[in-house]
Amino acid sequence: MKRISILGATGSIGQSTLDLIVRAPDKFQVEALTAQSNVEALAQAAITASAQLAVIGEEHLLEPLRSALAGTGIEAAAGRQAIIDAAARPADWTMAAIVGCAGLEPVMAAIGQGATVALANKEALVSAGEVLTAAVVHHGTRLMPVDSEHNAIFQCFEQHNSASVRRVILTASGGPFRTFTAAQLGQVTPEQAVKHPNWSMGAKISVDSATLMNKGLELIEAFHLFPLNVEQFDVIVHPQSVIHSLVEYTDGSFLAQLGSPDMRTPIAHCLAWPDRMEAPVERLDLARIAQLDFEAPDMERFPCLRLSREALAAGGAAPAILNAANEVAVAAFLDRQIGFADIATVVQSVLNHYAAPAPKSIADVLAIDGEARQRAAQKMEALAA
Ligand code: NAD
Ligand code: MG
Repeated sequence: MKRISILGATGSIGQSTLDLIVRAPDKFQVEALTAQSNVEALAQAAITASAQLAVIGEEHLLEPLRSALAGTGIEAAAGRQAIIDAAARPADWTMAAIVGCAGLEPVMAAIGQGATVALANKEALVSAGEVLTAAVVHHGTRLMPVDSEHNAIFQCFEQHNSASVRRVILTASGGPFRTFTAAQLGQVTPEQAVKHPNWSMGAKISVDSATLMNKGLELIEAFHLFPLNVEQFDVIVHPQSVIHSLVEYTDGSFLAQLGSPDMRTPIAHCLAWPDRMEAPVERLDLARIAQLDFEAPDMERFPCLRLSREALAAGGAAPAILNAANEVAVAAFLDRQIGFADIATVVQSVLNHYAAPAPKSIADVLAIDGEARQRAAQKMEALAA
């Protein structure tokens, strides 16, 4: 029996993970589940999965959580520190699926256990890159990539031949606005942006997919997961989302992983690795798909991809600044305070006007993150004025 914890259990990734786990009750036993504010969904997940502990982030929701769990014997806790403590509770496998840099401290607590961490929370790795990967090495933790592209690369990357890898190519669907003109992009609404053509995901990552910031964050994520130089990571737009990414070798071979766009496949891969397990996903029907298309990404219409590349090349504090400014801008866009094209404007402005020494600790990363958020908020006020 593998003891499992899920950070961000009520989200899109958290729910897909639970779906797989409850189908195999003889293999998995749930230790802790966490969520930020949805008591009902958290309690229901904890009861369905027979969890030991359920933690809600918002402290004032402790009583409602306790009553929802009354008589079940499931322990309840609340608050930010309680989430971090839950992540530190012994488990064999932890799903890190909190959205944003808010997941960084819980991820670090999970890494501190020295077991396996399945990482969906890309913002944590983007912000804390070197600090996080150093902790993984220090604690002997196994970090498994959940993100479909990185999971695909992990499946195709021959560790013993890493010197013979020429390039890694991340595929991007291009998002819902792939064919929009710059003028059309200026008019898009949050409702349009959260409707991804292929994947069903949380609101923040859906907007990131629409701006291509998601692919930019994924370039930075890939750089920290696979031992290659910055220039060896490429992006190709592939609207069908059938090929999840590719690895090119010096002998001209390209290895790719294919599958239906359903996150339960990469999650199942991480849950069962090095074995395989059954996942209830739609099978690829290649004859019906018939055709796979590819095109180069357009950095003019989608400047977030270019900004991410620049942050990756600059290194140090730049990725944390990029990520923080983007989180604030995306939240403001979803809240209708700024337009879609303003997201890139805000990120670019914060990146251009704020520099900090490379973070050496999580405290450094959080300080940079906080400062970048303030500057992003100021830039948005200026845009509104
Ligand atoms: P989501 O919005 O559906 O869920 C987020 C989860 O995090 C929820 O359980 C929520 O309660 C919790 N949470 C939110 N704010 C929190 C806070 N401040 N403190 C503690 N917990 C908090 O998001 P999602 O789509 O499941 O994405 C989760 C992560 O996985 C993101 O980093 C995303 O980029 C990544 N990811 C998602 C997908 C996908 O298909 N959804 C694919 C690849 C990677
Ligand atoms: Mg992805």
